[in-house]
Amino acid sequence: MINIAPFVSCKYQPLINFRDGLTINRFIPPRRKDKVVIVIGATGTGKSRLSIDLANHFSAEVVNSDKMQVYKGLDIVTNKVTEEETCGIPHHLLAFVDPNETFTATDFCQHASLAVDSITRKGQLPIIAGGSNSYIKALVNDDIEFKSRYECCFLWIDVKLELLQRFVSERVDKMVKDGLVEEAREFFSPDGDYTSGIRRAIGVPEMDEYFRNEDKLINEDALDEMLQRAIENIKANTCKLACCQRENILRLERQLGWNINRLDATEAFEKKGGESHQAWRRLVSEPSARFVHYFLGE
Ligand code: ATP
Repeated sequence: MINIAPFVSCKYQPLINFRDGLTINRFIPPRRKDKVVIVIGATGTGKSRLSIDLANHFSAEVVNSDKMQVYKGLDIVTNKVTEEETCGIPHHLLAFVDPNETFTATDFCQHASLAVDSITRKGQLPIIAGGSNSYIKALVNDDIEFKSRYECCFLWIDVKLELLQRFVSERVDKMVKDGLVEEAREFFSPDGDYTSGIRRAIGVPEMDEYFRNEDKLINEDALDEMLQRAIENIKANTCKLACCQRENILRLERQLGWNINRLDATEAFEKKGGESHQAWRRLVSEPSARFVHYFLGE
């Protein structure tokens, strides 16, 4: 059983003794808080990888907190973890919402709370992982029920921004090779509305001009230019997203006073092959495991 949380605040509640009007204190047994690990970081930093590393080590289950990965569809575009990558670790809140539905932060709080509760009841450690900081804030800071029941350990994977932006740009090229265009075509919106559901995902609105023209009799070069422009826009928007997500984390740390454990994965991104794996283990997964052991009081 992982939930070996120490007792949190011990409270005394005033009790009036009506016979002599005296106020005495009644001891209220303290409530045990369950423990939750939260993995945050900009897109591309390796949140899924770390959560699976930790889940293998701690007997845990993962709860997705990426606002686009909750939807069914666009597995390549939204970079969902594959069946093989999960290593058999149960993943919750992944690809379960209809792509046209609106899924809000409030929906996330409800579903995440249920998932965390069910994982805790099984004696497993819940690991919430994903890039949507507004969802994490809504759950951890604004949801009174969650706040009162759980204690959180934050792990932030950080990577030097220039390096991360180069990495996510290359990742877009790989997505294109793996079928981004075909996937995005399914969500082409003839009325040009990309404001709801999964159509907001980076990789869909940027393709609009290309899809609008691909069946028209325009010359090949012009069409190819449109495709290249779309790919460049996807790269630029992904880089912008990474930058915003990083700034949001710094803001949450500053404004809400969260104690966030920062793991600098830059070296793992600078190196290649085995050296990169070693750097990841040394700089990210091993220190994270130590933070979690300490958090669990082990
Ligand atoms: P914001 O308040 O800016 O929406 P957030 O923390 O709630 O921030 P993010 O996860 O940073 O949400 O997502 C912001 C936007 O980036 C999404 O609305 C979507 O357009 C895009 N986006 C986020 N995650 C993905 C993803 N996995 N794949 C593609 N696009 C994404």
